[in-house]
Amino acid sequence: MLLEIKDLYVKYGNIEALHGISFHVNKGEIVTLIGSNGAGKTTTLHAITRVPPPEGSTVSGGDILYKGKSILKVPAHTIVSDYNIALAPEGRHIFGNLTVEENLKLATYSRPDDENQQKDYERVYDLFPKMAERRYQRSETLSGGEQQMLSVSRAIMTACNFILLDEPSMGLSPLLMYDMFRVLKQLNEEGMTILLIEQNANLALKFAHRGYVMDTGEIVAQGPSAELMNNPEVKKAYLGG
Ligand code: ATP
Repeated sequence: MLLEIKDLYVKYGNIEALHGISFHVNKGEIVTLIGSNGAGKTTTLHAITRVPPPEGSTVSGGDILYKGKSILKVPAHTIVSDYNIALAPEGRHIFGNLTVEENLKLATYSRPDDENQQKDYERVYDLFPKMAERRYQRSETLSGGEQQMLSVSRAIMTACNFILLDEPSMGLSPLLMYDMFRVLKQLNEEGMTILLIEQNANLALKFAHRGYVMDTGEIVAQGPSAELMNNPEVKKAYLGG
């Protein structure tokens, strides 16, 4: 087990957003958290990575274990540098006034002297030719879809082996969405473990090995993706019948 969330409670002030959720991700897996608006998916992700700093939320119970050890109290910046966990947040969290290449460069801060950096630039540009094309463009002028690609590209540049994705399909046209998931699948086949948060439950379950369904701060269903896709209640509530 790579990541284990154990009975996790998170509050915003006095309001509890997560009411004791538990789930796990095994090495090499693609696991998805699906659920409607406000279910607590992003809150969960930010409790794990703490980047960007969760706004006003505190963990009020439970634990987050990585390879069996609690990472709840380790300094936030070490989650990327020491634990190789990277977050690809929704595209709007990129540095808009920097170019694509400068954004990628920033993501290598935890490994400034790593000689594999150059290979990773090439890898990103190979996976997302659009990023190569736009490398000297200021990021705020990228389209929403291109910003999503940049967000994922930055996660790759951290040389992580576990990537947490927040709605990578957001703002993508069907064609770009297909492309994004093709790239993610390829990364997984090369050994990347993936935790994916998606509102598009149909898409997420087609892509992931296993899934958890969240509703108002609780996990209400779980299992292999194929099983969830055939679960009548999940179908009715989350997959459009
Ligand atoms: P969506 O799919 O709409 O992004 P989500 O499943 O990611 O939703 P969260 O963003 O984690 O849901 O929100 C879970 C709950 O916590 C919601 O009720 C939301 O209003 C609340 N919440 C989120 N951020 C804050 C905040 N900064 N302050 C107060 N409450 C918050």
